[in-house]
Amino acid sequence: MTLRRPVLSVETLIALVTGYLLVMANGPFWRAAMVGRDMGGLGDWGFAAALAVLVGGLHFVALGLLSTRWTVRPLLALVVVVASVAAYYMDRYAIYLDRAMLRNVLATHYDEAVELFSLRMVGFVLVFGVLPAVALWWPQLRARPWPRALAIRAAWLLAALALAVAAILPVFADFASLMRNHKEVRHLVTPGNAVVALVGNLWGRSAAHPATRQAVAPDAAPGPAWAQRSRPTLFVLVVGETARARNFGLNGYERMTTPELAARDVVNFPRVTACGTSTEVSLPCMFSPFGRRDYDEDRIRSHESLLHVLARAGFQVQWRDNQSGCKGVCDGLEQVQLSKAGVEGLCPEGQCLDEVLLHGMDRVLADARGNLFVVMHQLGSHGPAYYRRYPDAFRRFTPACEKNDLRLCTPAEIRNAYDNSILYTDHVLAKLIDYLKARQDRYDTAMLYVSDHGESLGENGLYLHGVPYRLAPDVQREVPMVAWLSPAFRQAFGVDGACLQREAQRPVSHDHLFHSMLGLLDVATQAYDRSHDMFAACRTPVTAVPAAAANRARSASSAP
Ligand SMILES: [Zn+2]
Repeated sequence: MTLRRPVLSVETLIALVTGYLLVMANGPFWRAAMVGRDMGGLGDWGFAAALAVLVGGLHFVALGLLSTRWTVRPLLALVVVVASVAAYYMDRYAIYLDRAMLRNVLATHYDEAVELFSLRMVGFVLVFGVLPAVALWWPQLRARPWPRALAIRAAWLLAALALAVAAILPVFADFASLMRNHKEVRHLVTPGNAVVALVGNLWGRSAAHPATRQAVAPDAAPGPAWAQRSRPTLFVLVVGETARARNFGLNGYERMTTPELAARDVVNFPRVTACGTSTEVSLPCMFSPFGRRDYDEDRIRSHESLLHVLARAGFQVQWRDNQSGCKGVCDGLEQVQLSKAGVEGLCPEGQCLDEVLLHGMDRVLADARGNLFVVMHQLGSHGPAYYRRYPDAFRRFTPACEKNDLRLCTPAEIRNAYDNSILYTDHVLAKLIDYLKARQDRYDTAMLYVSDHGESLGENGLYLHGVPYRLAPDVQREVPMVAWLSPAFRQAFGVDGACLQREAQRPVSHDHLFHSMLGLLDVATQAYDRSHDMFAACRTPVTAVPAAAANRARSASSAP
């Protein structure tokens, strides 16, 4: 017995696939769109049906515009496979596939991408993506003379559009309120979300990537008190990764995950809010003068960062990276990529541990010409493979989750692995402080550590990070921040340590970083905003400048 291959029109095939996608790939969308409805009444089901016709109709039109008898199968196959991958991650990690998230995924290192792969994911994609995609080649496609094919296609497209509009009209009030109150559900409509995000990124990349960035603080110059500082400054800013405030020992977490920092003379800032919930958003934002309070992604990306301003004021700036780069904030400045440095004992399986960031610092200092501002970009607690972020000696909370698929671990195992990664970050920071202490004879040294965003560890079914900012839970937005200022640095820059311990209890955010660094490092510019300088209240105003030094500074600043 042989199975006869059915004969379908291109339009029928698209309609079938659209229906399949509505069911297979849109679970998160349906749950989000129907939230608060018990689906007990006819009205709820009517609303769901109207949404299905709208979403299905729009996808049908988009696919119908791009399909011919020869392109339809490859196109639909690609769409089904992409949708299955997207559906798997949206469902498992409750992520929203928007521009920022996709950029995050695309910018991810190959190693991190490999960590996201799991047997379950491969199985899911095989069954719900690849298999249906292969099945597309089973039916035969009806051939029509092209004028007739064109007319039939046009009729189908118009009908689909009309149906979509007709379906949504009776429930328009409900629909409008859904769009107003939960606009983000559109990022759950699959695979439309993936296509829109991809196009948005390609468009955004070409449109908002100017060859030259607009200047920020073009007047930046060393403040007058620099004239009386006899030694160069060495400041290290550590950008943490995925460390959340709640699991930080110094913040009162029930586990002491920061024993080494606690044993040093540091200032802890317990109430710090990040600018974004992903590296792609937070990094450019925290180095910009605009911040979250005045958030505009294109504006941030088209302007210079804090690092360019510091360079203009005479600092030698170096970005040291153990992750996926500086996201544009160090364009044109010195960069050292260390994630694949292959340093003996620090780089198991090719990916280096964060201690590698200190590797080669002696060389940097030996070559330094004056004031140094070094950024160390950690791999920190980057998930889901938390267990690969620390060496064996830091496997202290056990049993720790040692799988790439977090859902295969218990909440306690996930927390153990995550806390171990914080323990290791604590060690790296302490080692850095000790390194800076040992260089106090030649430099005024200081360090500031702040994480880029937090993380969900399964609370409310959420994992990882990247939930749109306004919706994100606090654990994704609240980050640890720690400062260490050597006694000589405090003296040279007029910082009162006891005052700082008190002031650090106030809530601050990534928005404070730009102005706080300019203020602390005594960079004079019109762009400086004292109200966003978290050190300002604890700094002695620079008045007691000896006459000779003041004159030197004055003649230096008036020089052409
Ligand atoms: Zn990050």
